Amino acid sequence: MRKTVALAISVAGMTAMGAASQPAAPDPIKWMAPQSPARLYGSTYLVGFGDLNVAMIRTSAGLILVDGGVPQGVAQIKAHLRQIGFSIRDVKLILSTEPHSDHAGGFAALALDSGATVIASAAGAAVLRTGGGDPDDPQAAWLDRFPAVPKLRVARHGETIRLGDTIVTAHATPGHTLGSMSWSWKSCEGKACRTIVFGASLNPVAADGWRFADPAHASFVDAFRASFERVKAMPCDMLIPSHPAADQADRLTRLGKARTANPFLDPGACRAYAQRAEAALANKLTE
Ligand SMILES: [Zn+2]
Repeated sequence: MRKTVALAISVAGMTAMGAASQPAAPDPIKWMAPQSPARLYGSTYLVGFGDLNVAMIRTSAGLILVDGGVPQGVAQIKAHLRQIGFSIRDVKLILSTEPHSDHAGGFAALALDSGATVIASAAGAAVLRTGGGDPDDPQAAWLDRFPAVPKLRVARHGETIRLGDTIVTAHATPGHTLGSMSWSWKSCEGKACRTIVFGASLNPVAADGWRFADPAHASFVDAFRASFERVKAMPCDMLIPSHPAADQADRLTRLGKARTANPFLDPGACRAYAQRAEAALANKLTE
C-alpha cells in the first residue's frame, strides 16, 4: 500500500515538473528489434533493424549507407555488413534522412570507423553538427541528443551524388523536420532496373503543447503539403521507409522464395506512403 502511494507521488511529481524531460521515443534499444541483413533488389540491401531501417547500396566504388540508426546500434550494423561479406571500411558515403537520434545517432561512430562522408540537407546538417538540440523542432521538448557529426557535405534538392556506377538523387521532403531528405537510386537485376526510394519519415508528430494548427507553425504544414505532392509524384518501384512498415518481417520471410514475386516491389508504395501521412496531418489539424 505504502509503495503504491509513493509511486503515485513520484508520477505526480514528474508531471508537475513537465513532460519536457521525458523522451517520446521508446528506449533506443527497443528500435533494435533483431533483423537479419537482406538483399532487397540488385545492389540494395537492408542492414538495420526490425523497427528502424538502414539501407546499404553496393556500388563499383564502395558502399553507401542510408541512415545510421541509434548510437547503440553501430556494432550491430557493422556485424550485419560482415555477415553479408562487407566491412565498415567499404562505406564511402552515409546519407541522412533527418537529424533525430533514431536515424542519425550512429553517424558519428559509423563515419569515424569508415572514414565515410555524411551527406544531409543544409537544414539537416546544421542540426547534425550540434548533435540535435534544434529549438524549432516540433518535438524539441522531448528529443534525445546524439553524438555530433563534425564533418558533413550538404546536398540540395535534386542534386545527384555519384559513387562508382551508382547515382543517388536527393529529394527534399521537409515536414517531420525542416531538413528531412529522401533519397532515390536505381538498382538492377540483369537488365531489369528499378527505382528505389528511401523515404524520410513524413509523420506529423509534435511534443505536447506544440500544435500544427498554430498559425506560427504554418511553415511546417506548407512544407508537409509540398512534400506529400513530391513523394506521390516520385518515380518509385520500391519504397524503403525510414521506419519499417508493419509487415516488413513478413515480406522478408517471403523474399527470395521460388516463384514468389519480390514482395518489396510496389510501384504504388510512395503514393500510398504520402497519402497516409496526409491523412495523419489532416487529423492533427482538426483534433
Ligand atoms: Zn524523427
